[in-house]
Amino acid sequence: MAFHASILTLFPEMFPGTLAHSLAGKALRDGKWGYEAVDIRSFATDKHRTVDDHPAGGGAGMVLKPDVLAKAIDGTAHKGPRLLMSPRGRPLDQALVRELAAGEGCMIICGRFEGIDQRVIEARGLQEVSIGDYVLSGGEPAALVLLDAVIRLLPGVMGHDQSHAEESFEDGLLEHPHYTKPNVWEGLEIPTILQSGDHKAIARWKAAQREELTRARRPDLYDRFTKRKG
Ligand code: SAH
Repeated sequence: MAFHASILTLFPEMFPGTLAHSLAGKALRDGKWGYEAVDIRSFATDKHRTVDDHPAGGGAGMVLKPDVLAKAIDGTAHKGPRLLMSPRGRPLDQALVRELAAGEGCMIICGRFEGIDQRVIEARGLQEVSIGDYVLSGGEPAALVLLDAVIRLLPGVMGHDQSHAEESFEDGLLEHPHYTKPNVWEGLEIPTILQSGDHKAIARWKAAQREELTRARRPDLYDRFTKRKG
């Protein structure tokens, strides 16, 4: 069964958005994944279709109402975990992406305003996921980022399954630099080793580049890498 995303949002028209194009778009048309974008507002019951209210205890902004959101969650069929996009969440990384891609799907709740009522998070067992230490105006772009990363790992989506193996983060290292023809461009030459045809030497060069780049740019990742290597 293909991976299915049930997305709860106040802006269903934002989906599939970027995921209608290129790799993810082709996979969507080929039935390798599917989605449903559910309008949270359609679960509001008053005549103004209210979805938000003032924060308890005062403060700026508005909060998504628990009753309306819970109805949306309970009224939407879904597979897998219930994720809430949130800057307070578990940082999204390739390990979590792989975990999700191995499953049947997920529900993704996109927050707006100041966020959602804490009681829904607890009562519906929502897992908060953050895409980074910055604040978006809504969870929709974060949901698109998460789904993009998951979809490319689904079976048959990427041409060469093997092209995952060397990529950034797959083994905890950043990727080595890439080059393509012409061999000399603006007086700059492709590293000679890459033109040597010596595949063992090339593999060694790539590995060394990856370690060096990671050490210089991401000491946090490099630390974990060396610890794992023992
Ligand atoms: N008041 C909140 C920010 C709300 S931003 C705070 O200070 O933490 C509105 C919505 O955007 C959030 O409910 C969440 O769904 C989404 N969002 C914002 N930043 C995000 C991030 N870094 N990762 C994932 N979702 C994010």
